[in-house]
Parts: sequence; C-alpha cells; structure tokens
Amino acid sequence: MYNPNMLKTFLDCPKKYYLKYVRQIQAPVKSEPFEKGKKIHALANYYLKGCDITKFEKVLNPDETSVWNLLKNNEYFNKTYINSEYNLSCKIDNYWIGGRLDALVKDENRYYILDYKTGSIPQNPEFDVQTMIYLLCADKFFDADLTFIYIDLKNNKNYRIDLTDEMRAKYTDEILKIITTVEKSNFPKKSACKFCEYKKVC
Ligand code: SF4
Repeated sequence: MYNPNMLKTFLDCPKKYYLKYVRQIQAPVKSEPFEKGKKIHALANYYLKGCDITKFEKVLNPDETSVWNLLKNNEYFNKTYINSEYNLSCKIDNYWIGGRLDALVKDENRYYILDYKTGSIPQNPEFDVQTMIYLLCADKFFDADLTFIYIDLKNNKNYRIDLTDEMRAKYTDEILKIITTVEKSNFPKKSACKFCEYKKVC
C-alpha cells in the first residue's frame, strides 16, 4: 500500500525511496525537531477521545501550551468528533493507497479531515500527496461532502480544500501518475543532497 510519506519520499529522491522502502534500511533521524508535533498530536487524540488530559497539560512547556490552546480553540477542532488517528485506505485502479488521518469531524453540511501542523503546511496544499490520498480514501467511505483542513498552528490559520468532482478526477490521475512512475523507476539518485540521513549508505 502506498501512503503519503512513501510518495513524498519518492518525489524528494527516488534513491531514498529505494533505500527506505525497498531495501527497508532505517536511518537514524534526530527526534528533537518533531517532539512538539508529536506531543500535540498525542494530546489532541486523547482529548478528542474523551480522556482526562489535565495531568499532561501541566507538563507542557509555555510554547507547547500556547500551541495546544490554539488547537483547542480552533473552530474545526471543535466540530462534531467522528474519529482520530484514523487509518483509511482504498484502491484506485490496481493500487492500494492509504494513511492515518489526524482527525475526522463533521457539521450539518460536510465532513472535515483535519491535519494539524506545528511546522509549515505544504507549499502546494491542493496537490500535496497527503491531501490527495486522504480525500480520495475518505471519499470512498463516506457519502458526504468532504473538506480537507490544514490547521496551521504556526500562523494560527486554517487552509481549506473542498473536494469537487473536478478535483476528485485530477487527484486520481495525479496519484496514479506518481505510483506508475514509482513502479517503473530504477530509483536514480538526486543530485544535490547535503542533509540526507541516507548519505552514508547511498
Ligand atoms: S544521499 Fe542524496 S541521492 Fe542518496 S538517498 Fe539521500 S537524497 Fe537521495
């Protein structure tokens, strides 16, 4: 099954995709830059599932507390909860695609896929592989209008993408195009790669 990280890795560098997903070599990565995001995602999941998180909230540092408060007060985060850390997959053509949604919520008009970002949102959010894969998968499961929301916690903004018939067709074509390229690839190296965790084994 192809998930967003796999396709993003391939688009970043086919050789890296080969090392990581074909050879299955795990390169060590520094965890510090991801700590805040991990904490906020875990907290959000417990909170949405109705757990008592007061003890966890007390151990957040001031920066984490302010990011968490932004998320807790976000208009989309406060819509009706359906599920969180939610695995979805579907088949397009002969290929399985899927991933784990941060949260799925709804109101009387539509369903919303939420993705919280403590760092930057994608440069081209409408055609980011994560946006496309999540919307296509949710579209197979739910008979409802669908919207993807990037909750940009760095800038306290929401970025909204509504799934239309035109977008659905474009997303299907685009994802199939990338997967077909992966399947036919001989995994060439990227030319400029100063900061790659696979440099030593590449
Ligand atoms: S070192 Fe460069 S070519 Fe090798 S996997 Fe990393 S990004 Fe790709």
